[in-house]
Amino acid sequence: MDVPILKKGVFHCTCGCAQVYPRFDGETVEGDTKLFFRCVLMQHEAGFPHLWLGIFTGPWFDDGRDCWVSVHLWSNGTGLVTRIEDFADTPWSEDDIWNCRPLNRSDVLGNEGALPWFIEFAQQVTTSYKPFGHFLISGAAT
Ligand SMILES: [Zn+2]
Repeated sequence: MDVPILKKGVFHCTCGCAQVYPRFDGETVEGDTKLFFRCVLMQHEAGFPHLWLGIFTGPWFDDGRDCWVSVHLWSNGTGLVTRIEDFADTPWSEDDIWNCRPLNRSDVLGNEGALPWFIEFAQQVTTSYKPFGHFLISGAAT
């Protein structure tokens, strides 16, 4: 997988901590489909990096909106945890997801084959773009 980063920016944390974190918008191609993603490297406590990956998908429901799947990655000391999260539990606001329909964990679990696909996709993104993997291990952002 090749993951060109289209744009680097900043993310103003929404939790009230007033911190600013690196944000990356990127794209990759899976088969015939071009996929866009947005990634934020958050670290509220030194040594505890959390990577939030939002993936734009096509419409899943009949309202025609593209959907947004939120994946949360962090190291728990023994390995990398990769988890689909409910949108309300993510740092993103509606402004961050470009009019997409935010999906929750239950939406992904309810779509057969979707959970392993997104987990694998997220892990591929973080291993293909070395600074993400490096961040998750060391907490050092680029
Ligand atoms: Zn914060």
